[in-house]
Amino acid sequence: MKVRVRIAPSPTGEDLHIGNVYTALLNYVFAKKHNGKFIVRIEDTDRTRLVEGSEERILKSLRWLNLIYDEGPDIGGPFAPYRQSERLPLYRKYAEELVEKGNAYYCFCTAERLIEMRRTQKTKRELPLYDRLCRKIKPGDGKSRKEKEKYVIRLKIPEKGTTAFHDLIRGDISFENNLLDDQVLLKSDGFPTYHLAVVVDDHLMEISHVIRAEDWISSTPKHVLLFRYFGWQLPVFVHGPLLRNPDKSKLSKRENPVWVSWYKEEGFLPEAILNYLALMGWSHPEEKDIFSLEEFTDKFTLEDLKAVGPAFDLTKLEWLNGEYIRKLDESELKSRILNFYDRELPQNIVGKSVPLVRERIKKLSDYMPLCQFLFERPEKYEMDLKPYDDLLKSAGDRLKKITKWNASEIGETMVQFAEEKKIKNSGFFMVLRVAVSGRKITPPLNESLEILGKKEVFYRCQNF
Ligand code: GLU
Repeated sequence: MKVRVRIAPSPTGEDLHIGNVYTALLNYVFAKKHNGKFIVRIEDTDRTRLVEGSEERILKSLRWLNLIYDEGPDIGGPFAPYRQSERLPLYRKYAEELVEKGNAYYCFCTAERLIEMRRTQKTKRELPLYDRLCRKIKPGDGKSRKEKEKYVIRLKIPEKGTTAFHDLIRGDISFENNLLDDQVLLKSDGFPTYHLAVVVDDHLMEISHVIRAEDWISSTPKHVLLFRYFGWQLPVFVHGPLLRNPDKSKLSKRENPVWVSWYKEEGFLPEAILNYLALMGWSHPEEKDIFSLEEFTDKFTLEDLKAVGPAFDLTKLEWLNGEYIRKLDESELKSRILNFYDRELPQNIVGKSVPLVRERIKKLSDYMPLCQFLFERPEKYEMDLKPYDDLLKSAGDRLKKITKWNASEIGETMVQFAEEKKIKNSGFFMVLRVAVSGRKITPPLNESLEILGKKEVFYRCQNF
């Protein structure tokens, strides 16, 4: 079987959702492992929920994460277009085909009637399912009414029995048909609903495995019925674990940041994010926490995916990100920092500061608070320096006399200086640190002073 998998994000949010990143990762890795294709299809049929710019940001985020797709709306492919809003005639054709076959019907119920129906159902504590009024309309009548009236096309769910399917990791799942709604397939605006479009496209795009999150399980019986009515072969269904908050609820904006843009702006590395997500429903056979995407691809099997994953834990992700930062070689970390702060930073200073900070930062955004003073004179001081005015001025004079300006000379000179002044080293170094940086916590002081240069250090000891 040719492996073709897809993610089908809806452009209804700010950016790519971290839950979608997880789904994308599983699909991507599965495709790579089997020399298959990884496809992005944009499901933009819910016109009321579209968010301007969302699609571009979703695609950009996928690229940033290095989840490179083989076919997609911006790059095309053999089954183009990959944006559902550009495929409308297809869905209409297939919806009509189902009506012809007697597996779907025209429904002319007005919004008012449906609202009234729901209200009654609520008071009677009945399930909110369409009452199938229009299912009784004779096919010929339906055809002529649709020429004059507004209509939708609904799926005919069998009245009795069950609809079952096999999920690769969850086994056989079966739904009572009397609990399924006669789902709208084609809306009155001519747009398909998700259920129709997803099935038509998964078939036409020859998707072999539908790998998506657990929250789509309840939609699957409708899809299965559609596949059967059309006489199409079912894909393999795999419903992976949902990302959850620590209290086990579905990952939500309230408890955890969900948009990729947030992770990017915080300075998480894409490879660390993917590694962390890999651990959500799967464990490395050697219990490793840290492994590359290649290694994940090599070791991963869909069958080993767990149905329930651990909670999404930002603290653990931060730890892992720190580990990845430490694994980067210095020039790579330097260029990541320069890219991250996409303003002009003097490259040589960034380069020199990298060895001082790599053990201390967990995210790229931790860099600037630590190193700002290497680029700009401090404006605020975390300590009152007035009592140390004379001390700092004479320290400056002493530093000025150093001929070989390097960290160890600076250190020795200052230790000697403190001794002469009969003040404790630690106290003195703190005063000096705050005078040059404004802050009580900085990278190692001597090395920082070396980077700042003699002139600048002298200036800062005189003017604070
Ligand atoms: N458009 C759906 C979404 O927003 C796709 C679900 C699926 O993969 O079938 O996630």
